[in-house]
Amino acid sequence: MPTKKKCIECREEIGVASKVCAKCGSKQPYKAKLEERKRKMTTEWRELQKKNSSLNKVYDSTNLQLHKWELLERHPLLLLGRKTPEGFHAECLCPWELDSEDFNDAIDTIRKIYEDSDYFPYSRCNKKEKKS
Ligand SMILES: [Zn+2]
Repeated sequence: MPTKKKCIECREEIGVASKVCAKCGSKQPYKAKLEERKRKMTTEWRELQKKNSSLNKVYDSTNLQLHKWELLERHPLLLLGRKTPEGFHAECLCPWELDSEDFNDAIDTIRKIYEDSDYFPYSRCNKKEKKS
């Protein structure tokens, strides 16, 4: 991992986590390379995935990433929410065994909170459905 980066303004070497350059005070872009990759990927990539029906490949790579986090002892839990004709539904991806009833109940509760939360724009479609 690099420990230094160059300031976007004065090109001074600064710490990789610096939000502001210590020399010139310029604000540094937040994870600029990652944001650039996300920007490039957005439209083109999504259309290509739909055309190739490659959802399973994305699931596979996501599961692989979750497995990597598990190996790093970060124990991930991923909720993938999507709009369906019946409302906003979330599926839960988790790289460890779901073998206890308590754990399954907890996951179910977390999933329902996510599906019904007012914080997420898509979950509001569930509320509208209940009123009608
Ligand atoms: Zn600078």
